[in-house]
Amino acid sequence: MKTRKWVCKSACGECCGCVLISRSSWKKYQSRAARVDRVVECDKDILPVTTDGMCCFLNDVRECSIYRDRPPICRIYGRSSKIPCPYIRPDGSPRSYHETLEIKERINCEVDAGIAMVRGLKQ
Ligand code: SF4
Ligand code: SF4
Repeated sequence: MKTRKWVCKSACGECCGCVLISRSSWKKYQSRAARVDRVVECDKDILPVTTDGMCCFLNDVRECSIYRDRPPICRIYGRSSKIPCPYIRPDGSPRSYHETLEIKERINCEVDAGIAMVRGLKQ
């Protein structure tokens, strides 16, 4: 089956919560980070925790400021059925409105858990 080129919704960033980033990338791109409240050391990686729970590299127009060098998890998000994008199918085709609603409902509790974890890290 032929797959389409994956193109995110313009200015979306909905899946861009706080992510682990390698120490080398952090050193390189730290100056682009915004809204950082705390930096958590996680073995070989860094977790920049933000004031709003979104990724520190998501800029004001909801685009990734390190897109070409984004972490591996950001590259596979949506392309695997285990971490589905609400808007685009793994083959790159757009989802129906009902699929979007169903997936959003399914991942809502995971997002809530992630936000709770990030809030916990800030304390
Ligand atoms: S993967 Fe999906 S939810 Fe994430 S930014 Fe792209 S379109 Fe939005
Ligand atoms: S690094 Fe970029 S693609 Fe990954 S979560 Fe942050 S803003 Fe989104």
